Amino acid sequence: MNYSFIVPGVLVLFIIMGYYFFRPRLQIRLNRAFLAILIINIGLQLFECVASRLNETWQNHDPALLIIFNTLFYIFCLSSSYMFFVFTISVLDSNALVSHPLRKYYPVVYFPSIALVLINPVTHWLFRVEDGYHPGPLSGITYICAACYIVFGTIGIFRHIRQLSAHGVISLLALQGILLAGNIARALLPQYIVIDTFCIMGIIVIFMSFLNPDLYLSDRGYAYNFTAFRALLDEYHRRHKPCRILGFAIQNYNEHREIFGGKQMDEALTQINKFMTESFPYLSAFYLRNGSFALVGSNYMDLTALRDRVRERFGRSWITGAGDLRLSVSFVEADTEILDCPSDRLVNTLMISQDEISRVSEPDASCSLTDSIGEINRKLDIRRCLEKALDQDKLEVFLQPLMDCSTGKRVAAEALVRLRDENGDLIRPDLFIGMAEQEGHIVRLGEQVLSHVCQFIRDNDMEKIGIKWINVNLSPVQFMSRDIPSTFSEILQEYGVDESMIHLEITEQSMIDFSLLREQIIGLHDNGFEFSLDDYGSGYSNLTRVRQYPFTNIKIDMEVVHNYCQDRDPLLPALVQGFKEMNLSITAEGIETREMAEILKGIGCDYLQGYYFSRPVPMSEFLVMDI
Ligand code: C2E
Ligand code: MG
Ligand code: MG
Repeated sequence: MNYSFIVPGVLVLFIIMGYYFFRPRLQIRLNRAFLAILIINIGLQLFECVASRLNETWQNHDPALLIIFNTLFYIFCLSSSYMFFVFTISVLDSNALVSHPLRKYYPVVYFPSIALVLINPVTHWLFRVEDGYHPGPLSGITYICAACYIVFGTIGIFRHIRQLSAHGVISLLALQGILLAGNIARALLPQYIVIDTFCIMGIIVIFMSFLNPDLYLSDRGYAYNFTAFRALLDEYHRRHKPCRILGFAIQNYNEHREIFGGKQMDEALTQINKFMTESFPYLSAFYLRNGSFALVGSNYMDLTALRDRVRERFGRSWITGAGDLRLSVSFVEADTEILDCPSDRLVNTLMISQDEISRVSEPDASCSLTDSIGEINRKLDIRRCLEKALDQDKLEVFLQPLMDCSTGKRVAAEALVRLRDENGDLIRPDLFIGMAEQEGHIVRLGEQVLSHVCQFIRDNDMEKIGIKWINVNLSPVQFMSRDIPSTFSEILQEYGVDESMIHLEITEQSMIDFSLLREQIIGLHDNGFEFSLDDYGSGYSNLTRVRQYPFTNIKIDMEVVHNYCQDRDPLLPALVQGFKEMNLSITAEGIETREMAEILKGIGCDYLQGYYFSRPVPMSEFLVMDI
């Protein structure tokens, strides 16, 4: 027997183990699997060495010793193949974010093989000790077990190949390749103890690719980094393990960095990391980025006490080479239930909340991540509903009448879009219009609303219901699309509706100075559409600006109307008169009582709109309304 490979192998294993134990490591499955591989492989080397030596010199030893050490060798050899497989699966699971449903069947080869080893002293199927060591008919069980798990692992890698990084795929495939080569070499060269060398090669591949502590440590002190934070939360999420998180962020971090310089801030960050790791050794401490930190612990962690402790420390200065630095922090707290949401959403929300609270709030303020997550989940639900409604053309359009002050009858209507959630409840437009603008859906939304309105005009007798036109709201983002004048005209043509039947509303706040907006408004106006300036008084337009656009109507913002009804200052009547002199008609929004209607009519408004007359109602209801 040639033992020359053993000694350097064992030394390498001890070095890796030293690194593993003397540097911080996260409590995640990957790490536990790796530790198991290390221990099993040290055991394997030891027992293979001893068993081989005993087998060679059997005459000098008690046969019981041969049986014990050969049995141990078989157990550790089988366990080594199995643990390499478990590690491969841990990497796959942590990338796929869900455990594979077949997971509980993974030990189907390992456990029966171990059982065979344990009953071998009776059956002698694997080996027999009688005047030395003699292999039995099933002595090749270690090869079968190894081959099975290499095949299972390889199948797993190809199943998840899309979720893995190229580096991850190569490393895992290399691991399987090395294990395969090791087993072939062992079969071909039984006199050399070579398998251990291959196992060590595998361990080095794993360590360099997945476990090097530097992958998970922040470069400032012994706190973990962002990657580690994600890995830990992934693990908690997958295992449905409750936890608590206290996030805290240095207020106005970037400004501080500019004022005090990077070097001094880095020193302070290192001290904060040190404070966290030393003061809370039982928690996992993270430096995420841009001056934000997190402490993660079990669901028994007392968040209030923890926050007080951090707050107390930040009440004092951080002493750096260039002087003392006083920093203030704000907090984001997260409780157990939060892990119901996917960890990447949790991490993103935490980062956004920390960023927000550290910029806008008072020092020491705190907010709950549960609320933020709830908000984000609601937004995601709304987005889903919106996308579905747009795809299936299921948006609804409600109509609210505009009353003519001279006749007291309705003369027009405003079209207001409505979205229903899965339960059939209405979602307010201010919750989804902004979202539609940001997600690039607003053009489609606007076209669908216009189509509904045109269809309503085509299918019903407008004269009979006293409607001369319908107001349709436009978002400034719709103007970004160059062909809005032609698409709008095409929609009207499709339904045979005249342009004069549609008045377009744009809000005062969207009247930002940009030439395309003006160009498009003029283009639409030339095509025959009329324009209303919506929510006047909520923005900053002055009369000169208003005059540069082809408006025919001004809608006074609801809040301005409400304020005027409470406190009659002379500004609004003067404004209304000014507009009238410019030949613009005036609509007052938000009329909720008869008294308000009288007041607004009294100062010269031409049209009134508000709950006093009617709330926005479905089109079918609008048709039979008696006003
Ligand atoms: P807006 O264009 O100023 O519409 C008037 C809003 O005031 C409507 O809210 C209406 O329901 C509400 N309102 C009417 N009378 C009263 C009243 O007497 N009291 C009170 N408190 N409120 C009253 P809604 O339907 O929630 O719409 C909100 C905003 O969403 C609209 O404000 C408009 O800017 C936008 N929006 C609605 N539909 C569309 C659309 O199809 N396209 C675009 N781009 N925006 C739309
Ligand atoms: Mg409007
Ligand atoms: Mg309005």
